[in-house]
Amino acid sequence: GEIEPVTVIGLGPMGQAMVRRFLAAGHRTTVWNRTPGRADALVEAGAVRAATAGEAVAANRLVLLSLTDYAAMYDVLGKAEAELAGRVVVNLSSDTPERTREAAAWLAERAAVLLTGGIMVPEELVGTEAAYVFYSGPRATFDAHEPTLRVIGRPDHRGEDPGLAQLYYQAQLSLFLTSLAAYLYATALVGTAGVSATEFLPYAVDNANSLSMYLADAAREIDAGRYPGDQANVTMMGATADHIVGTARSTGIEPALPVAVKALYDRAIAAGHGKDGWPSLYEVIRKG
Ligand code: NDP
Repeated sequence: GEIEPVTVIGLGPMGQAMVRRFLAAGHRTTVWNRTPGRADALVEAGAVRAATAGEAVAANRLVLLSLTDYAAMYDVLGKAEAELAGRVVVNLSSDTPERTREAAAWLAERAAVLLTGGIMVPEELVGTEAAYVFYSGPRATFDAHEPTLRVIGRPDHRGEDPGLAQLYYQAQLSLFLTSLAAYLYATALVGTAGVSATEFLPYAVDNANSLSMYLADAAREIDAGRYPGDQANVTMMGATADHIVGTARSTGIEPALPVAVKALYDRAIAAGHGKDGWPSLYEVIRKG
């Protein structure tokens, strides 16, 4: 079929990477950015410069946004309201699921459809085999544009609720940011004895690589709502959590991270999960 033309608004590192992939795949690509200079290299590479946000929206049915957050979407599309009717706005910006649902309603009032996107790789991997993108919103709209969306990464439609892709995105980033902080924390702990990050690295890598082995069993227990504690139970793991806090305090480094983890174990024990497996912490987290 024909190669669908596309508009990309927001030319930060991510937007620029997307435009380059669209151009490489032969898509006529119209671009606009608040700071116009950020479009220069892309226009040289073949993108079409829109003079205003309204012109960018008017140019194509499919309009991708790659902005800092959803507040930026209102700043940009607030000046293009007359052009929104009939558009499919694919917002690949990070924000909360609630703000994303509000944006879907705001666009619907202007006869446009929101597809929420959450792109799960950094800029240098956009459009590669490693790239995948969570989407949510109307399935038929997604299906109609799926071949174009495939250019920036494997599209994964999770459901109709516009907040859902954002929820998946934030869940994945929670796993990512928390894990990275945990790595830095462990490195700081051995660092108090003068151990360099490089010296500790192979041990950290071994630990990080083994983490995924525990997830499948935990998922099964979470879904069954039963947590047999014959291996690592909450009382045993909680004692370890307490030793980590004690170690951190005696070294004088920032204690917030292990204190937060220990608090989960304390609450699980208080809720009667002491003899259950560590995945029962899920119950404490879930109930808030
Ligand atoms: P930024 O978060 O820095 O996005 C910058 C873009 O948003 C620029 O085009 C900027 O315009 C525009 N912008 C911000 N505020 C406004 C506003 N009020 N009005 C108009 N335009 C505005 O860069 P990224 O490209 O890194 O990220 C884009 C999105 O992708 C973010 O939501 C980010 O969380 C997400 N993301 C980023 C990844 C990464 O590795 N960088 C990975 C996965 C997702 P101007 O140039 O004029 O400042």
